[in-house]
Amino acid sequence: MLKLNSVKVSYGAIEAVKGVSLEVRKSEVVTIIGANGAGKSTLLKSIVGLEAVKEGHIYIDGKECTYVPSHKRVGLGVAMSPEGRGVFADQTVRENLMLGAYSRKGDPRAIEEAIEREFKRFPRLRERQNQLSGTLSGGEQQMLAIARALMSEPRLLLLDEPSLGLAPLIIKDIFEAIRQLRHSGLTILLVEQMAKQALGVADRAYVLETGLITLEGSGKELLNDPKVKAAYLGAH
Ligand code: ATP
Repeated sequence: MLKLNSVKVSYGAIEAVKGVSLEVRKSEVVTIIGANGAGKSTLLKSIVGLEAVKEGHIYIDGKECTYVPSHKRVGLGVAMSPEGRGVFADQTVRENLMLGAYSRKGDPRAIEEAIEREFKRFPRLRERQNQLSGTLSGGEQQMLAIARALMSEPRLLLLDEPSLGLAPLIIKDIFEAIRQLRHSGLTILLVEQMAKQALGVADRAYVLETGLITLEGSGKELLNDPKVKAAYLGAH
């Protein structure tokens, strides 16, 4: 479903992604783990077209989309829940969800159905639908960010550090939501620093270090890999 071939992304003279090749197959959950500044967010942004690819190629369903503008990638079935959630604080929960459905302008019934689907998935959002999003708890904002990304009914969901800044119990809820999405057959690329949880939910995983993939394997393999244990699992 998604293929990256030697992708490089730079910020001026700094090369943040130095030639990454990876693959996400249909209905797989794939995770990219790595330390702060490894280039994880940059990589996801390049997949949705928010950062320009300097070299290399990105394919979605076998079609090259390296230079397709970001607003058109929604039409290709890709959506991202960004790091730091990116919810619009002064808009209500419902309004934020409607923004996620902008690609379906002119079809209010489809939008209502999609909102209803997300309220079923995240009942807390239904209770708080008229609340300003900035007043939600961190965990609720994360659920909203995921629900908003799902409003366009993507076939590939990119999640950028959904656990960031959340309490352990809430992180458990977020990973449970990811498990359920996986169960529904959605294809997911998950970027995380919470390596243990991410590897636990992933079919396959990659380790990204200073812009390069240094290890790959099944979630289980990497959970048991001595290098991964030493570098990423020590504290958990
Ligand atoms: P984190 O987990 O801390 O978010 P990350 O793995 O997602 O880290 P990126 O945010 O992709 O890493 O950053 C990779 C590198 O690119 C870092 O060295 C960072 O300083 C740099 N970088 C990121 N965004 C920009 C930008 N807009 N301008 C310049 N440099 C940037």
